[in-house]
Amino acid sequence: MEERVYNFSAGPSMMPLPVLQEAQKDLLCYPGAGASVLEMSHRSKSFDDIINEAEATLRRIMNIPDDYVVLFLQGGATLQFSMVAMNLARQGDTMAFIKSGQFSTKAMKEGERWGNAVCAASSEDKNFSYIPKVDPANFPKDARFLHFTGNNTVFGTAFWQLPQIPAEAKANGCRLVGDWSSAILGMDIDVKAHDLIYAGAQKNIGPAGVTVVILKKEILEQEIDPVLPIMLRYKPAADARSMYNTPPCFAIYVSGLMFKWVEQQGGVTEMERRNRIKAGLLYDIIDNSPLYTGLAAKEDRSLMNVTFTLPDKELTAEFLSLCQSRGMINLKGYRSVGGVRASIYNGMPLEGVQLLAETMKEFEASHK
Ligand SMILES: *Cc1c(COP(=O)(O)O)cnc(C)c1O
Repeated sequence: MEERVYNFSAGPSMMPLPVLQEAQKDLLCYPGAGASVLEMSHRSKSFDDIINEAEATLRRIMNIPDDYVVLFLQGGATLQFSMVAMNLARQGDTMAFIKSGQFSTKAMKEGERWGNAVCAASSEDKNFSYIPKVDPANFPKDARFLHFTGNNTVFGTAFWQLPQIPAEAKANGCRLVGDWSSAILGMDIDVKAHDLIYAGAQKNIGPAGVTVVILKKEILEQEIDPVLPIMLRYKPAADARSMYNTPPCFAIYVSGLMFKWVEQQGGVTEMERRNRIKAGLLYDIIDNSPLYTGLAAKEDRSLMNVTFTLPDKELTAEFLSLCQSRGMINLKGYRSVGGVRASIYNGMPLEGVQLLAETMKEFEASHK
């Protein structure tokens, strides 16, 4: 096998080797099926077992209560920006959004297409370097939901406390919706404190092509706009157990392997413990360095995406090419932010982060 590099991409990202190896082992012939999962009918017994087991494992590792459904959908997290608005609000209704970064801004734009999207808090004033707080006095009392992005992939911030919906809006039925694409399974998330959680798989779950949506069953009974195409409704997907049409079978299968791996490692709590160690190695260097400057407010830092800058573009380029020469790729920061972003999801081994930390220290010493 050609040598694998440490891929610090924000997504698609690294997956644990044992997961890839298991997928490889059964690639040509899935036990008992006489065919590959790539070829298998989604109506077969084998696939039924695969999707059921994936869901059951996810329910265990995330402590998903029985009054929530789990869906495996397509269209990425981006389609959820639209589906959330269209299924939780009627056209023209009010919706509240916390703008804490680029994806939350996109989510709000989709809300604007559907109704009255109100910004309930924003950290745009400081280029999204911190998590903004909801001001109860300015919160729309008739909002159907409050949408927030749990982990801001581009800027490297995270909600360590869930946003609070003010009492009056809550009494009016305002629901809490979290986009946890880039931190699901990487830190403990209290599912029952949400009404709906969604996550594209390609960051912390598995391959691109599947999106996990976890929502309260009662939402399915909500009246929706009759104009909605069937594929944009949650209920038909839930009624057909994510198989209203052909689902992304292989992506669901590999996600299931990933869920099992997380469980075998000790669950999400153990993932968070490891991720704290990994992120801590990098933040320690950033906090004690004359060369590197962290981009995120300390109390709001992400465990998944560590962002920092060097004094100028030339040094940044030199640092990135040193990393590349040592087998560490995709460390360049997002274009609106610049600098460096190290995405260190569950699939990134400690050794990869240790190598990055050593390289940062060495680069600093040689640029005194
Ligand atoms: C990557 C990402 C998205 C977009 O995901 P797609 O699956 O590409 O649509 C949305 N939200 C967050 C927080 C992300 O990290």
